[in-house]
Amino acid sequence: MSVGATGPERKLIDTCVHCGFCLPACPTYQLSSNEAESPRGRIDLMRRYLDGAIGLDADFVAHIDSCLGCMACVKACPSGVDYETLIVEAKSMIHASFQRPSRQRLVRKVIFAIMPYPARMRPLARLGSLSKRLGVERIAKGRASGGVAATLASALALLPRVANSAVPARNRLYSASAPRRGVVGLLTGCVSSVLFGSTEQAAIDVLCAEGFDVLVPGGQGCCGALAEHAGEAPLARRLAGALVARLGREQVDAWITTSAGCGSTLKSYDRLLPGNPASREFSERVRDIHEFLYQQGLRADYKPLGMRVAYHPACHLANAQGIVDEPLALLRAIPGCEVVLPGQSGTCCGSAGIYNLVEPATAQVLGKAKASSIAELHADVVATGNPGCLLQIARYSDPGLASAHPVELLARSLRASTA
Ligand code: SF4
Ligand code: SF4
Repeated sequence: MSVGATGPERKLIDTCVHCGFCLPACPTYQLSSNEAESPRGRIDLMRRYLDGAIGLDADFVAHIDSCLGCMACVKACPSGVDYETLIVEAKSMIHASFQRPSRQRLVRKVIFAIMPYPARMRPLARLGSLSKRLGVERIAKGRASGGVAATLASALALLPRVANSAVPARNRLYSASAPRRGVVGLLTGCVSSVLFGSTEQAAIDVLCAEGFDVLVPGGQGCCGALAEHAGEAPLARRLAGALVARLGREQVDAWITTSAGCGSTLKSYDRLLPGNPASREFSERVRDIHEFLYQQGLRADYKPLGMRVAYHPACHLANAQGIVDEPLALLRAIPGCEVVLPGQSGTCCGSAGIYNLVEPATAQVLGKAKASSIAELHADVVATGNPGCLLQIARYSDPGLASAHPVELLARSLRASTA
């Protein structure tokens, strides 16, 4: 079934046997010790709602809203409960049928009027980075007491001081610089294409050096992941449908994404656009860049970097897509690169799509904890395969700690001198 107003499916709910094995893995349960803030508790709320024992009230909504969607519970569950579909359906039902307070509605309206649209976000990101350098962030933080002002203050705090918005040229085929192994397409997304042009460039450089032609089509737009994870199903469907219509006919062997959050939705378009053969065929070709490079095998000449890298496994990579070993193997393929993992490495950093904008208190606790476990490693750089995690970790880390997508380190190693 597609996500929408109907709510969580009973048969999915009934696969939960209440064993509680998921509880220790759940960050919101760990923080609150409240059963209703656990996966089992949230599934039980959904069950009670379907049974008519409770209504779609503010209490139910708060417990569903507070779920990060980190999917640590999915990994921990021995019964294979499809919690991802359940939470997406519950959040979509809330979006369709619950009247949020006007402040929350406005905040979400502003977020989704800007973030999925690179042409709107780019000038605002530049302005935001400039105002951050001028110290406006501190003033905004001091004055913001809630609603849109507080969200803008949180967004400003997340922005890098210099918005890295120069992106590789679109509508272009970048040619392989090694014996040709195939052709891939690069998915550019929304937030990534505004703030992480250097990641896109690194992906192109590495893929070309590995023998792949890289097609970067223009006019791609957002894949719908941000909207889907926040329950905004109609918008997610529109964006996903537009992306499939724009790219579906391109002749590439694989579509590559550098964003873990996008990858998990791009691979599940059947959930958003059921019964659409074009979207299924598109989804089947999507690969996260770590997954693709690992599957193909590295052949290029990676030169020593000599650095200690703290790797943070993004939840939507490790938990939602099961891509755990691949990023570590790629980083360890760089000569001289020592890879270390922080304690509690599987715990969410609090980014979680728009979570750090709409649930800032929990996001802050998790962000600080993640930053401090990374700081203990005394690394030269923190690496993670999701743009939201990069922003969140940088926000709570010492400004002297560099951060990068793993593919940027591979590209740096390619460029490094052997002298
Ligand atoms: S997705 Fe994450 S926050 Fe939500 S219930 Fe599962 S473990 Fe807890
Ligand atoms: S581990 Fe799985 S089956 Fe057990 S309570 Fe959690 S979701 Fe339910």
